[in-house]
Amino acid sequence: MNPAQFDGSKADRLDEDHPASHPPVLAGQGAATIVPRPDHNISRANISRNALKVLYRLREGGFQAFLVGGSVRDLLLGVTPKDFDIATDAHPDQVAELFRNCRLIGRRFRLAHVRFGREIIEVATFRAGGEEAHDDRVHDDAGRILRDNVYGSIDEDVWRRDFTSNALYYNIADFSIWDFTGGFQDVHDRVLRLIGDPETRYREDPVRMLRAVRFAAKLGFSIAPETAAPIARLAPLLVEVPPARLFDEILKLFHGGHGLRVFELLGQYGLFGQLFPHTEASLAGPHGESLEKLIRLALANTDARVAEELPVTPTFLLAVLLWGPIRERAALLLEEGGSDVDALAGGTTEVVLEQLERVSIPRRFSGPLREMLALQPRFSQRRGVRAMRLLENKRFRAAYDFLVLRAECGEVDPDLVEWWTEVQEMDAETRRKEMGLRRGGGKPADGRRRRSRRRSRAD
Ligand code: ATP
Ligand code: MG
Repeated sequence: MNPAQFDGSKADRLDEDHPASHPPVLAGQGAATIVPRPDHNISRANISRNALKVLYRLREGGFQAFLVGGSVRDLLLGVTPKDFDIATDAHPDQVAELFRNCRLIGRRFRLAHVRFGREIIEVATFRAGGEEAHDDRVHDDAGRILRDNVYGSIDEDVWRRDFTSNALYYNIADFSIWDFTGGFQDVHDRVLRLIGDPETRYREDPVRMLRAVRFAAKLGFSIAPETAAPIARLAPLLVEVPPARLFDEILKLFHGGHGLRVFELLGQYGLFGQLFPHTEASLAGPHGESLEKLIRLALANTDARVAEELPVTPTFLLAVLLWGPIRERAALLLEEGGSDVDALAGGTTEVVLEQLERVSIPRRFSGPLREMLALQPRFSQRRGVRAMRLLENKRFRAAYDFLVLRAECGEVDPDLVEWWTEVQEMDAETRRKEMGLRRGGGKPADGRRRRSRRRSRAD
């Protein structure tokens, strides 16, 4: 290993005063390789001030304090970390005593959240043992911990982490990096490698398969062959993961700024079909090609929005991912009779209900999803009060964006989209004329949504 290869990206004045270094005292599963400050590029200038405050205060309190997880990895890569997590040998109560702005969260394993305005620094006490260790705590009647196998030392904490690149510890005592698993070299080689036996680690927590894809897409890492090999075979284990957790994970996967790459990798590793079985079936069906195009276009779009820090919504993402099966289901319902609006609303309800078995979809997203998809057929109506009402509908914008996407895939006449684009930019009077409405005829004069007599007649 040549740690010096990380050097030289950013000069770091702050770190020029070499602090007294504290030799690590290690026990347990193997010692760490210590990468001293001159041999890596992590500079305090790139660490959040608040995280530094927490690290220093813990250290002054006589505790060990490390930056951990994604932030160390990202700093090594020259990427701005999303957040800064800290690990310490201080117990949660001890952390709470050091910080007034601190809240303890979690029941079995308590974490400290230290708040500075909008930034929250998460401080976790080193965890002991494997997954089962959580339940080994013995409490007295008052809920106080009598025997505690939950918390441990750093050399226990490291082995429960997922990937070697996520298991590096930046020590505030001397600005060195502690590496127990070869993560430093793996970050340099841009390889994602599970710690321990991959099959065992995926069985412990199948979400790690999704995390592998997420990090590979986000960081542009390759997945080490032994880490990648079991995924396709073990993908069905995702069925056992609670749907609510999968919903959170799906947002991280598709709203992380690399959604298109994630989609490709999920497909490649046989994971997509575990999350969205009906969509997978549609992709293999007669409209598969145009559906794939729609998904790819939408995800590329979403990635661009994330890059520009524009808002993205789960409702739109779900519309995109579920459109294939919803459209097929709506076609079946239409054959049974009723309007196309009802068919789409009904199709959405059915597909969402089935999807809930895998991935939960909170009502605050499924309701708007149904509304926005049911508006799709209404765009063909360009004249009259109905057209005006569509324009005023609270889901108009989302529905219109989706229409644009469908047109780009050849599902909708481009002239229709052009008309709806133009009509939005017209002044009120021109728009009314364009829709064939008389002056002031589109909306009650006071602007409220009430059914006037004239309105009902126009219906
Ligand atoms: P991101 O940049 O997306 O926040 P991250 O690496 O910080 O990436 P988190 O999900 O925030 O990822 O988790 C923080 C750390 O906790 C990880 O780096 C990893 O060490 C550990 N971790 C999180 N989830 C798991 C898991 N399912 N199994 C094992 N370790 C995990
Ligand atoms: Mg993180």
